[in-house]
Amino acid sequence: MHRSDPKFQGRIVHVNLGRRSYPIYIGSHILPDFGPFFTQNCPSKHAIVVTDDNVKPIYAEMLLNSLAEQNLESHLVSVPPGESSKQMAVLEHLYDKMFDFAAERSDCVIALGGGVIGDLAGFLAATFKRGLNFVQVPTSLLAMVDSSIGGKTGINHPRGKNMIGSFYQPKMVFADTDTLKTLPPRELGCGLAETVKHAIIRDAGFFATLEQNTQAVTTLQKNTLIDLVERNCQIKAAVVSADEHEAGLRGILNLGHTVGHAIETTLKNLDFHHGEAVSLGIVAALRLALSRKLLDERSAQKILLLLQKLQLPTHIQGPINSADLYQAMLQDKKVKHGKINFVLPTGIGSCDFINDLSEPEILTAVDSLTQPAT
Ligand code: ADP
Ligand code: ZN
Repeated sequence: MHRSDPKFQGRIVHVNLGRRSYPIYIGSHILPDFGPFFTQNCPSKHAIVVTDDNVKPIYAEMLLNSLAEQNLESHLVSVPPGESSKQMAVLEHLYDKMFDFAAERSDCVIALGGGVIGDLAGFLAATFKRGLNFVQVPTSLLAMVDSSIGGKTGINHPRGKNMIGSFYQPKMVFADTDTLKTLPPRELGCGLAETVKHAIIRDAGFFATLEQNTQAVTTLQKNTLIDLVERNCQIKAAVVSADEHEAGLRGILNLGHTVGHAIETTLKNLDFHHGEAVSLGIVAALRLALSRKLLDERSAQKILLLLQKLQLPTHIQGPINSADLYQAMLQDKKVKHGKINFVLPTGIGSCDFINDLSEPEILTAVDSLTQPAT
């Protein structure tokens, strides 16, 4: 490290993407010290901070103060919280604001918030004046362990989630785990579903650590959280570094998402949040893996138990129309030549792509979600 570099009291994970490589800073109560790390990683002198109306009153001032301490100019714009802000009308409003703020290509868009803000602000940064600098300050667990890493940005289209977007890497990610103290518990669960996903696909040791620490995780023990975010980032960074644009390997991150996305789009009345739908999608993947004898019963039980201990849903109460869900799966971005490409666990810490599952096999697995998991 250069002598004048600020000292960082926390963990740093590097995302290796050649010239587009960047660091992820992880620590407790690091937001007040954001400014020096920003200047170290991003040449911009003017920042446009994009946040939402829940996060703004809690964290915006802290971030703006730390920028001001470095003599950086900044502007703040806030949008309504929730997935509905990932739409064209909100993006147009943000483009207008960029003109109001006289934003230039050398400036930086900073996303301060959960995954919605990261996706929206990232796409703003990728497209305004053909792209300006971008930095992520994730404040939800889901954003810290998943969506802020890897450069996926975008908005929804009335006919499909995340259908308009681009790959656009940030200059750095800065995750203060203390911000999770104000995160609603249900949102914490969403990040935990992606955490379990990462452990299943890549890391049996991490899975065992999670099994032993469910209490410490759900009660937000400081060091447990830092370890958890760091391990997630290492796993996701390794996958993304190997396959930035999802030509192959990166697809393993879709474990639980094929059925999960279909649940989100089809069962709107049940109001599952993303991570909850992913938890159910993981259960469906377990059932498919069991029926194909790719996974042993004991591992499947362990995964179910961990999801339950983390208070994630493992079954759907009430009837569902599995044919509707199947139709939604066929609309998925990952469908190739009409074949649904599933990621199925082959053990704890390993998985495989399976693309020859028949419609009846998939319908049976989806229908099984209405049975309480035992
Ligand atoms: P996600 O991060 O799960 O993709 P969102 O960006 O919609 O999705 O964030 C989930 C919800 O949590 C939103 O209502 C957002 O305003 C809120 N939120 C995000 N971070 C925090 C935080 N640190 N404290 C309180 N609320 C937060
Ligand atoms: Zn996800």
